[in-house]
Amino acid sequence: MTNPSYSHLLAPLDLGFTTLRNRVIMGSMHTGLEDRFYHYPKLAAYFRERAKGGVGLIVTGGISPNRSGWLLPFGGTLNSWFDLPNHRRVTQAVHEEGGKIAMQILHAGRYGYQPLVVSASALKSPISMFRPRALSESGILGTIRDYVRCAKLAQRAGYDGVEIMGSEGYLLNQFLCARTNLRTDRWGGSIENRMRLAVEIVKQVRAAVGREFIIMYRHSLLDLVDGGNSWDDVVAVAKALQQAGASIINTGIGWHEARVPTIVTSVPRAAFRSLAGRLRKELTIPVVASNRINMPDEAEDIIASGDADLVSMARPFLADPDFVHKVATGRVDEINTCIACNQACLDHTFSNQRASCLVNPRAAHETELVYRKATQPKRVAVVGAGPAGLSAATVAAERGHQVTLFDASDRIGGQFNYAMRIPGKEEFKETLRYFKRRVEVTKVKLELNHRVTREELLQQGFDEIIVAAGIVPRTPRIDGIDHPMVLSYLDVLKDNAAVGKRVAIIGAGGIGFDIGEFLLHDPQVPLPLPLSHWLAEWGVDLAASANGGLRAPVAEEPVRQIYLLQRKASKLGASLGKTSGWVHRATLLRKGVEMLAGVEYRKIDDQGLHIAVGGVERLLEVDNVIVCAGQDSLTELMPVVKAGDANTTRGPRFHLIGGAKLAAELDAKRAIREGAELAASL
Ligand code: FAD
Ligand code: NAP
Ligand code: SF4
Repeated sequence: MTNPSYSHLLAPLDLGFTTLRNRVIMGSMHTGLEDRFYHYPKLAAYFRERAKGGVGLIVTGGISPNRSGWLLPFGGTLNSWFDLPNHRRVTQAVHEEGGKIAMQILHAGRYGYQPLVVSASALKSPISMFRPRALSESGILGTIRDYVRCAKLAQRAGYDGVEIMGSEGYLLNQFLCARTNLRTDRWGGSIENRMRLAVEIVKQVRAAVGREFIIMYRHSLLDLVDGGNSWDDVVAVAKALQQAGASIINTGIGWHEARVPTIVTSVPRAAFRSLAGRLRKELTIPVVASNRINMPDEAEDIIASGDADLVSMARPFLADPDFVHKVATGRVDEINTCIACNQACLDHTFSNQRASCLVNPRAAHETELVYRKATQPKRVAVVGAGPAGLSAATVAAERGHQVTLFDASDRIGGQFNYAMRIPGKEEFKETLRYFKRRVEVTKVKLELNHRVTREELLQQGFDEIIVAAGIVPRTPRIDGIDHPMVLSYLDVLKDNAAVGKRVAIIGAGGIGFDIGEFLLHDPQVPLPLPLSHWLAEWGVDLAASANGGLRAPVAEEPVRQIYLLQRKASKLGASLGKTSGWVHRATLLRKGVEMLAGVEYRKIDDQGLHIAVGGVERLLEVDNVIVCAGQDSLTELMPVVKAGDANTTRGPRFHLIGGAKLAAELDAKRAIREGAELAASL
């Protein structure tokens, strides 16, 4: 199967001893399944779906070569024959679907969240509480032997190759950079010495596995930390790795401790592709572009323009295992696009939960959330075409039920229509494009502009009624809350209400932060933000002339003066995503937002908003107060259950999901998962 519009992306790649069926790599992701032997059947099912979906080469989550390399205590390790049967389940599943798979060897170094950690020098990282022990000469030689043993075992387990993880600030990156390598022996000092460990590992692994085995090395092209490498260093290392026997250079951008975002949704698509292009000119082996590539058009252009030989997409394969197959069969509009929210993948990983995907709750749950054909098709009504209702309606229809989806609005999407107006959240529109198409493909009957009533639903003879009617914004009880200067976030995002230059935002949850970003956006600058603008704002030097590609950020005059307020005494933004909250906080602080915790709201009048903080009275002289104080569920359609009703079996069954079920801590991840789980059970 091929599609002429994506001929470069779908072209096979001959590595001399093996051929990849196309130019798409599923990048390494830690799901949590690889850490426990009893999860390997689930891991095999997860990879099987991706191989079946046509991806050229899969890379597993990181597997440690020894105990000191563990990211977490008792993390996935391959250091003994006893581990082989588990890994063989995975390789067999992938090969049965015609795919290829490489195992990533990851030594976490000082990023390990466990007491056995080692590094080049005894310098603690800002993201782990454990101080590493500096490896001795014999410790380094032992580590090289462990990599070699691990690669040989991977070969025995049936993998088509290994990926040696050398980027994102893990052990090999720690040796490569002066930031973390203070050694004065042959493993530290000059770049030739700092790269010695990585080069020796590749050389000795190649000698052990022979010529016909893929060795992909993930190399950091831009460290984005003080004391990171220059471009000249990066090229020198890549050339030495090629010489040592690497078959492919994959690329990584930014250490985990970097204070520049590299994969969150506000990072422009394919922001770092030019670096791969520059490196490719220096090498003869294939180079892979990575980071924020999530749709086939960018991917095709990267290959066609010569910026890379392959593209690596990781999270997009959580969102849609069939990505490549859909490209090949002309169904790009059916791709369930990764919106780079991190909410169900990285945020889970960093809180020690199994990874999944906000837009695809089946990800890494393939054996548990199964959409079987319904044995008895039913008439199903879904009220509300927000994320919860869309998910429920399309899964129910996919299973063979006859589904009608009602929405009071003239479009599908519910609150996602407002989320996608936030600068940096433009990707959210892809989810609505996906669901719009999914509604068509699964033949859901869509009734827009139809605010349905309970009576109407009962008259139409449905078997199942799913209420996904969402929320109403909460109006806090504050003296003067009905003053004309007070607006709700919906007045601003839905009705485009005019907003003055000085603004107080009541409520600092996700929506309070988002409204802050919306109001601070300079209307002269187009959206999505042009790459040059984003690079200047975050202080990124793509030329990487020095210091890991960091330069001074360009400060811009904020377009508004904003106060962001909450009653809790805790740090503002503490409830935002683990891996993205810091980006929102940094953006608002850079634009001069005053964040106040422990606020008591006194009153709103012509002068502005009167508050007290820590017992001190204060007047915020603002033009508008914008209320982002959470929401209440909209449950008016649910039947009122009276005493004695519990045993009634007549009439339709009612179900409540998404914001309509629970508005507190509501997010689209729960809404979509609840919709899918309910529909899978009908
Ligand atoms: P809604 O999206 O509220 O949809 C309910 C639908 O029901 C509406 O379309 C409404 O018209 C319809 N409806 C109501 N009553 C009736 C009736 N009687 N008849 C017919 N139709 C009816 N979540 C995240 O996870 N991550 C984010 O980054 C994020 N950012 C956000 C940014 C903003 C600015 C906003 C406003 C929200 C954001 N959210 C985010 C929250 C997310 O959008 C919600 O969690 C999600 O939309 C809830 O889905 P839902 O289907 O339960 O409800
Ligand atoms: P939220 O996260 O629950 O925040 C509500 C805010 O309002 C809190 O700061 C709360 O702080 C304040 N508040 C609550 N009741 C109040 C009252 N009676 N008077 C004054 N202040 C009050 O809700 P949200 O911001 O509306 O977001 C809704 C959901 O969308 C969130 O749960 C979130 O998961 C999701 N979302 C996520 C993102 C994201 O980036 N991941 C972005 C947007 C939205 P105090 O009680 O301390 O004052
Ligand atoms: Fe992408 Fe969000 Fe899904 Fe992660 S949870 S794979 S970032 S859509």
